[in-house]
Amino acid sequence: MQQPNQISPHVLIFPLPLQGPVNCMLKLAELLCLHQIHVTFLNTEHVQNRLRLHTDTETYFKKYEKCFSFRTVPDGLPEDNPRTGSQIPALLKGLDEVAVPLLREMVTSGELGTESERPLTCIIADGIFTFAVGIAREIGVTLLYFDTISPCGFWTYFCLPKLIEAGELPFKDDDLDVIIKNVPGMEGIIRRRDLPSFCRTKDLNDRIIQLVLKEDEHIPLAQGLIFNTFQELEAPVLAQMLNISPNIYAVGPLHTHAKTRLGEETGVLSERSSSIWKEDRTCISWLDAQPLKSVVYVSIGSLAVMTKDQLLEIWHGLVNSGSRFLWVRRPGSIEGLDDKFEIPLELSQGTKERGCIVDWAPQEEVLSHPSVGGFLTHSGWNSTLESIVEGKPMICWPYFVDQQVNSRYVEEVWKIGLDMKDTCERSIVEKKVREVMDLKKDVFWERARNMAQLAKESVSEGGSSFQDLNRLVEDIKSKYM
Ligand code: UDP
Repeated sequence: MQQPNQISPHVLIFPLPLQGPVNCMLKLAELLCLHQIHVTFLNTEHVQNRLRLHTDTETYFKKYEKCFSFRTVPDGLPEDNPRTGSQIPALLKGLDEVAVPLLREMVTSGELGTESERPLTCIIADGIFTFAVGIAREIGVTLLYFDTISPCGFWTYFCLPKLIEAGELPFKDDDLDVIIKNVPGMEGIIRRRDLPSFCRTKDLNDRIIQLVLKEDEHIPLAQGLIFNTFQELEAPVLAQMLNISPNIYAVGPLHTHAKTRLGEETGVLSERSSSIWKEDRTCISWLDAQPLKSVVYVSIGSLAVMTKDQLLEIWHGLVNSGSRFLWVRRPGSIEGLDDKFEIPLELSQGTKERGCIVDWAPQEEVLSHPSVGGFLTHSGWNSTLESIVEGKPMICWPYFVDQQVNSRYVEEVWKIGLDMKDTCERSIVEKKVREVMDLKKDVFWERARNMAQLAKESVSEGGSSFQDLNRLVEDIKSKYM
């Protein structure tokens, strides 16, 4: 066992076992390793098996052998559970019942326990993991919460008790355009429809609402909060966060941050995939053959689903817009679509001439491709940041959690795209695609380019995220030991 003065920093990172959080926490892990901080990355068996199957992430991290290791726990769900957005409450329950007891044992008496060769000094956990407070206290280590959703979305979560107290929640009627008053810093910006979709319930005992309220109570108990964003993008919201925690670290966009800091080296994870689906790279050669800025990239991420009707509305809209499109249709993401489904005749010609459809794409590479001129997105936070960094304007069709807030910010605050929320009609899809790809292309491109520049500067030497990462590293090495 190490003597106290020999203890070296050892962080346990535990992401919510979903594609987005795993992606960005792996990038944070790599950045910490680069600064000689030992990281144990806790994945669920399901995620780890899929990483093993579809990427070389596990092999890749072998290069950090001395300071990085993976550990796994089961997630408590049957293997055939689709683990889509609607399954998140079940996933959290499974983790609580099955993974948490194993984790507790691992960090108390087990291989990462206080008597082990390299005891933990810090836990970085997803903000929804309220159990982390008890575990960190039990073993006497620092807890930093890393909420991988957007800070603007997170802030609306955090203001939920305030909204309830002020009588703004539940909504008193069905008018979704009423302006929200009790989210400090967002006055005049968000309407009822821009709050996370779970706020639309009439029942405050709703499972998700209760989970978020519990999260709100636990968040201030951590010693600090990490966010995947940069000051220049969300300064007013980040300023509000200082009311919850004195230690706020805005270290994003993490995928660019990792690429920048590790740029000299070959084989940076950020340039590799940490995908849990098999990427279809044929779309890159298809993009290579398309004209500059001519393609709308369409994806609803790893959790969202759409109905068959919505599929057809979006499809007609895309074909009618005359634009070329690369569309990711993740298996299982269209409800009720069976083997008998045939491409409608009126769509087949346009799709054949101007479309490419794949199961899963190397998204960061796609977004950086010169042929891509816009992104029709579900406004997941990773997708939003990836688009911002590449300077690609967005057409937003949010699905759940922070996505309603993100899409509002894209249109109303950052003005780098259009928000299509709560509508899914072919004429609207066509109109928005035409505006972004053609009619207002120059204005959107100019603004998106400026934002991309700010994002890149923030992770360059001396930039805001660069400095926050240094502060995080120093604090983990000293203040939090
Ligand atoms: N992604 C990908 N290929 C795809 C679609 C998505 O690699 O075809 C990645 C994308 O780059 C992002 C993540 O999956 O990093 C999705 O995260 P996001 O937060 O945008 O949405 P979520 O899936 O959590 O709803």
